[in-house]
Amino acid sequence: MKPKMILLMGGQGVGKGTHARALIARDGYGYVETGAILRALPAESKLAKIIARGELVPDSDLFDVIADAISKTSGDIILDGFPRTIGQAQWIVKNYADKFDVRVIYLNVPEDIMLARIQKRIREGGGRADDADENVVRRRLDSFWKITMPAIEWLRTADGIKFADVDTTDEDFNVNFARVSAAVAG
Ligand code: AMP
Repeated sequence: MKPKMILLMGGQGVGKGTHARALIARDGYGYVETGAILRALPAESKLAKIIARGELVPDSDLFDVIADAISKTSGDIILDGFPRTIGQAQWIVKNYADKFDVRVIYLNVPEDIMLARIQKRIREGGGRADDADENVVRRRLDSFWKITMPAIEWLRTADGIKFADVDTTDEDFNVNFARVSAAVAG
């Protein structure tokens, strides 16, 4: 049996990081947290400036970084925040679908709830530097709809990929986590 590669996809505030950490605490997956890897880059680097503007970094700058992070894991793994473009989705399928049982878990939440959750994250002080500016948040949401949604739709019908559309709008984390868990297991 091939190990699982869980692709956690969705906009901001849908619970990618929260659900990834809960799945890892329970089942011990390898973890590739794209945003955290990128935010750890030196502030003066070209990529850090792109992230601060709320834009996506170019695919060509990411592939080596993600391949390296994947190669350091073993067994079942979770990718959080990758892929976010059709090019990245195609790269995963081309390079990893033979080695892994690839499953997309699309955390589906309406935009008004995403925005409310980001605002809450800022109010509660847990927010990140790239959450603080409203224009940056807007730009990240725009890229989600314009660039990431087509990648999600492409994966929905890609050959050999399992796809689950999971509603994580509930206020109660446990309700959402039960749905995510069922999709991961199914
Ligand atoms: P995140 O923590 O996942 O919201 O990612 C923070 C920032 O890192 C994003 O706003 C993007 O600038 C960049 N980033 C994260 N994942 C990707 C990706 N798959 N492709 C391009 N840029 C990304």
